[in-house]
Amino acid sequence: MAHVVVLGAGLGGVIAAYEIKEKLRGEDSLTLVSRGETYHFVPSNPWVAVSWRKRKAIEVSLPAIMKKKHIEFVSVGAKRVHPADNRIELEDGRSIPYDYLVIATGPDLAFDEIEGLGPAGATQSICHVDHAEKAAAAFEAFCKTPGPIVVGAVQGASCFGPAYEFAMILDTELRKRKVRDKVPMTFVTSEPYIGHLGLDGVGDTKGLLESEMRNRHIKWITNARVAKVEPGKMHVEEVAEDGSVKAKQELPFAFSMMLPAFRGVPAILGVDGLVNPRGFVLIDKHQRSPKFPNVFGVGVTVAIPPTGKTPVPVGVPKTGFMIESMVTATAQNIGALIRGETPTAEATWNAVCLADFGDGGVAFVAQPQIPPRNVNWAAKGGWVHLAKEAFEGYFLGKVRKGESEPFYEKLLLDTLGIHKLKT
Ligand SMILES: Cc1cc2nc3c(=O)[nH]c(=O)nc-3n(C[C@H](O)[C@H](O)[C@H](O)COP(=O)(O)OP(=O)(O)OC[C@H]3O[C@@H](n4cnc5c(N)ncnc54)[C@H](O)[C@@H]3O)c2cc1C
Repeated sequence: MAHVVVLGAGLGGVIAAYEIKEKLRGEDSLTLVSRGETYHFVPSNPWVAVSWRKRKAIEVSLPAIMKKKHIEFVSVGAKRVHPADNRIELEDGRSIPYDYLVIATGPDLAFDEIEGLGPAGATQSICHVDHAEKAAAAFEAFCKTPGPIVVGAVQGASCFGPAYEFAMILDTELRKRKVRDKVPMTFVTSEPYIGHLGLDGVGDTKGLLESEMRNRHIKWITNARVAKVEPGKMHVEEVAEDGSVKAKQELPFAFSMMLPAFRGVPAILGVDGLVNPRGFVLIDKHQRSPKFPNVFGVGVTVAIPPTGKTPVPVGVPKTGFMIESMVTATAQNIGALIRGETPTAEATWNAVCLADFGDGGVAFVAQPQIPPRNVNWAAKGGWVHLAKEAFEGYFLGKVRKGESEPFYEKLLLDTLGIHKLKT
């Protein structure tokens, strides 16, 4: 009998629970440990922040679904992971022992690394639905007395797509409200160029996104480091190739959303041998901890080195499809291990992304996500917005049904030559 624990019930953790359940034998058991009872679809947060979605529409209550799937559900978060003892300690003092652990705890949002950054400071966030709701209230107030907007991603950030999405969505919504003419907009990013995305670009994302920003009158500052934020004012340093400060700017704003840097969550930060200094889980090509081989990592929580040196630190994003590929490899490998076999599955880490701009968007396929690539394609069009809405409904439907990859999804992806596992 084996007991598998999945820690974290976000995008990676929920589908990991579904896929691992299918790989277990009758006598094995599975526990999903979540902080709270609700799953929320993070990619829809930008829509919540402009009131295009209510939070209820992007949330799923998990206990009944997990019960139906015979997955033990624990809604008390983990205080600490103890891999040397094969147990996790919960916030209520209980411990859960495991034979195999999958860490899917996503990011800890490092707002505290920059003075004045984040919802407790002077900027908004869309990383969590709570933040997005708060941003929606601030945006409504802003629209009554519009002024300058600053949107972007700070030094060390690894998630850039949502910053571009949110800038364009704000532009679309402000035009709808006929107040766009009162709003100077600036995009501030640590990326070395527009469309780098932490991936050294995909296809011509540089050209596509620059042209989109020009069309929408959004100015930009690249190689930017945010020194501090005060209410209504962002202090930004432009960094030269040699790392020196080229220029300093004080950007006034009446509304701002900046994506923070990520790090590992407190339950794993500093666990010796499990994580890197930033708290991300060290894994091998089978998603497995080299030091603790019964521990796996999937999603934003895993350590991936940057694609190359940049004047300002820029991380690699962990995107949805890439995370799904990590999950499939992990489920297969755990299935093999409990049967006494050698784990062989390797995730492709392919990326298939839809960046929505409210009235269109940019889609890209990067195979693999980290260059050099076999497929390096990006395109824009009105269809991207519709595709993203359809995907939201489809993904939430899968979470509600307790499915990870229905046969028709696999068939479609196989037909398109987009695979989750290396052959
Ligand atoms: C605003 C935004 C938009 C995005 N949009 C896209 C997109 O359109 N397309 C795309 O491909 N990617 C997108 N991404 C990137 C990525 O797909 C998402 O961040 C995704 O949610 C990451 O999945 P995850 O499972 O790693 O982390 P999460 O979904 O964040 O899940 C982590 C879970 O672990 C829980 N947790 C943390 N600590 C503990 C603990 N101690 N005990 C128990 N539970 C814990 C958290 O509460 C959370 O529920 C977006 C990211 C952001 C921030």
